[in-house]
Amino acid sequence: MTSQDGGGPRLPQERRVVTEIPGPRSRELQERRTAAVPPGVGSVLPVYVADAGGGVVVDVDGNSLIDFGSGIAVTNVGNASPRVAARVKEQADRFTHTCFMVAPYESYVAVCENLNRITPGDHEKRSFLVNSGAEAVENAVKIARYATGRQAVVVFDHGYHGRTLLTMTLTAKSMPYKHGFGPYAPEVYRMPMAYPFRWPTGPGNCGPEAAAQAADMISKQIGAANVAAVVVEPIQGEGGFIDPAPGFLPAIAGFCRANGILLVADEVQTGFARTGDMFACEHEGIVPDIVATAKGIAGGLPLAAVTGRAEIMDRVHGGGLGGTYGGNPLACAAALAVLEEIEEGKLTERARRIGEVMLPRLRGLAGRYPAIGDVRGRGAMIAIELVRPGTKEPDAALTAEIARRCHARGLLVLTAGTYGNVLRFLPPLVIPEHLLNEGLDVLEAAFAA
Ligand SMILES: *Cc1c(COP(=O)(O)O)cnc(C)c1O
Repeated sequence: MTSQDGGGPRLPQERRVVTEIPGPRSRELQERRTAAVPPGVGSVLPVYVADAGGGVVVDVDGNSLIDFGSGIAVTNVGNASPRVAARVKEQADRFTHTCFMVAPYESYVAVCENLNRITPGDHEKRSFLVNSGAEAVENAVKIARYATGRQAVVVFDHGYHGRTLLTMTLTAKSMPYKHGFGPYAPEVYRMPMAYPFRWPTGPGNCGPEAAAQAADMISKQIGAANVAAVVVEPIQGEGGFIDPAPGFLPAIAGFCRANGILLVADEVQTGFARTGDMFACEHEGIVPDIVATAKGIAGGLPLAAVTGRAEIMDRVHGGGLGGTYGGNPLACAAALAVLEEIEEGKLTERARRIGEVMLPRLRGLAGRYPAIGDVRGRGAMIAIELVRPGTKEPDAALTAEIARRCHARGLLVLTAGTYGNVLRFLPPLVIPEHLLNEGLDVLEAAFAA
């Protein structure tokens, strides 16, 4: 059973707006939430979900929204994918937890075998499982420090790596991720990012120039011999879907190799077919030493992983890695189903097709609306950056307004970007093409309004 042949979603794949958004039931729930949940936990759109599947999210008022968010690149195989749901139910009836560190089970091992097989590079690898993207990145840094005996960690401007103490330190943006939460973890150094749209000398030279600047600054300010790891998202996510200019990642990888620095790819958002390759590193043939994965791995069940070269991963002493819930059996069952869906359903091809549909239409829109300064992304990880026409000055207010208009018309879109001026599109890879096109119609109507 694949998503193509009979395992399809239960819900009508349609946009349906029957109340204002949010509707009365959602507004009631929002009141309860405000009294029970602190405002520090935000929500993009306070419509309360009753059901979801394929390319739609249905709310408690009966509105059916086209999903251009996938719960932030998580439900790549579709929400409540039938195969995932069936495997999780089956596992829940047998056992829900033993703790892999107490008494292990096969599905954990099978997930790791799969990760070792599908992550970039054909060297011998090891994987272990944790609960969140932040935990994966944090463990990657621990292992890199252990294996190299070095302390410094290099990250990039506009990067996002999570919300724990170490990973918020690795994250670039102060508000809302870091503001007031210091002091931060030591030995973290930030380099410029090869951001083509905003590179001072233009996109043409951006890749090599940004890499040369990073190499120079690392050598001068930190000393390459002190650096344990360079941690980089092969396409930056929260920072605004910044696809580094060509040549940047290969040059950084070369610099790492030449200096005994481990290259850690944070593929938490880009992984699992999202960008049209299984992992975004594949686009320029980058082979990282360690890969952190999460979001798309298990269809929404909390799971994340660290995969790395066997000789690096095997260094750490027994008991040095792990966690109570890491590789929970329900999440492992889901991950095995997700990997089957991706491979049998050829979802990398679906992701490419999504990009082929979206990019030309968005470029057309940019031709008509000069507020769209840049259209970018790969596969089903696509964004537009909004500016004051004729400048590169970010327009966060317009971005929020367009998102609001999309929401009101039944299209769930997310914003992103260091300057809050990026609309990002992350449809489930199984979204029917008519919904993809209708979502783009809604976006056009939002600009026209
Ligand atoms: C979401 C994200 C994280 C953090 O993952 P959590 O599961 O939210 O902890 C880390 N890195 C990147 C690139 C992400 O997009």
